[in-house]
Amino acid sequence: ELDLFARRSDYQWEIPPHGAMRVPGVIYADETLIRAMDHKVYEQTVNVACLPGIVRAAYVMPDAHWGYGFPIGGVAAFDPDEGGVVSAGGVGFDISCGVRCLHTGLTRDDILRVQKPLADRLFQCIPAGVGSSGAIRLDSQEMDAMLAGGAKWAVERGWGEPADLERIEEGGRMKGARPAAVSQQAKKRQRDEMGTLGSGNHYLEIQEVVAIYDRPAAAAFGLIEGATVIMVHCGSRGLGHQIGTEFLKQMAIAAADHGIILPDRELACAPIQSPLGQEYLGAMRAGINCALANRQILTQLVRQVFAELLPAARLSLLYDVSHNTCKVETHRVDGRMRELYVHRKGATRAFGPGHPDLPETLRASGQPVLIGGSMGTGSYILRGVAESEELAFASACHGAGRAMSRHRAQHTWHGRQVIDDLAARGILIRSPTQRGVAEEAPDAYKDVGAVVDAAEAAGLARKVARVAPLICVKG
Ligand code: 5GP
Ligand code: MN
Ligand code: MN
Repeated sequence: ELDLFARRSDYQWEIPPHGAMRVPGVIYADETLIRAMDHKVYEQTVNVACLPGIVRAAYVMPDAHWGYGFPIGGVAAFDPDEGGVVSAGGVGFDISCGVRCLHTGLTRDDILRVQKPLADRLFQCIPAGVGSSGAIRLDSQEMDAMLAGGAKWAVERGWGEPADLERIEEGGRMKGARPAAVSQQAKKRQRDEMGTLGSGNHYLEIQEVVAIYDRPAAAAFGLIEGATVIMVHCGSRGLGHQIGTEFLKQMAIAAADHGIILPDRELACAPIQSPLGQEYLGAMRAGINCALANRQILTQLVRQVFAELLPAARLSLLYDVSHNTCKVETHRVDGRMRELYVHRKGATRAFGPGHPDLPETLRASGQPVLIGGSMGTGSYILRGVAESEELAFASACHGAGRAMSRHRAQHTWHGRQVIDDLAARGILIRSPTQRGVAEEAPDAYKDVGAVVDAAEAAGLARKVARVAPLICVKG
């Protein structure tokens, strides 16, 4: 397996261009991680490298595992002036799935005093699970306002504070969204899903800061040992999935007309400059706004629970970053600044210090990069670094990544047992399904410590802090 890759360093592996590949594949991982990667990651990376207009390389992050068409943990940038494409599978079905981190202003002991009622109350107030519905109903006019306005819309409607917006990518509102490009079916699926967590890997977790690696950055992020934070991981719910499904089909059908030969039907894509490409981008950006609004509403629900049980809490945003997107960004390639369409699927944007898109308060430290681990092991907060720009268009990993399929995990563990084992370690899990918990057992994921160490050693981002779970509401 290993001889498929040229070792560029201990943390960088290359798939030299061959066959129809236009650029190399570049995988960031240590030897153990790359040996454990599914062969399909290799195949999918080769396929992505064949797509028209791809720039520099098809990149793979250390948490990668195979996905639909593109690997999860993949980064690929396309130049519209060179026939570059946009791909629904390259964004992922859960458009703008992402993580938001909130400070609580409370210590571990504050949380522990009310740990059980807090877990119960969060579980009661945060709708979770497949097809869970919220208390919010949007008529078609409000739906379009939400799709155009994102978290900014939510704040204007009373879910949150204007100060929240500064700590959200794009200031909480993705420009260029086209609500009219989103189908009625997609909107219908979303009608009662605003302010819901969704299922499976999505979670709301109360965590304690247990280690600091980079003192100045931690200070800039407001993180100290013993403090607690909340991470919310979810995306654009039914709406995003419906957009993905519909455009994937249309892109597959239209590929031949666009003169695109697909190495794999799952890589369905359309030229950025085609009407279909533009239509998808407009819909996808509306999907991003849906996810941003959703995480904003969830934040407000969490604030209400804290106001009830822990009135001293002050929930403020550290950051909100998506890991399933395609964004227009300016990057230097071959000495020239170029406007590229950067797909990050299961990969986190990681802008380094000084980047103009960062809020003033984060300009010196670099962008917070929020990395889920598992409900049992812990998670990480990293920061973007300048080097990452050259290495992967300013991107980093997004999680530990699955080590085992859901199916196999389900047959390996019992949900009840996982919950009991974690409770014995002081971690309270609340979930509507035991099967879901089994699928999400901590050992179904790779070692998140090894993944972030590889990301750091490769130069993609730097570790700032590690956090450990106290309460996890699982979808
Ligand atoms: P994805 O966005 O690909 O669905 O998942 C992102 C990452 O979240 C996974 O790779 C995994 O490492 C992490 N993750 C999944 N479930 C949990 C959880 O319950 N708690 C935490 N902290 N991380 C999780
Ligand atoms: Mn996600
Ligand atoms: Mn998701």
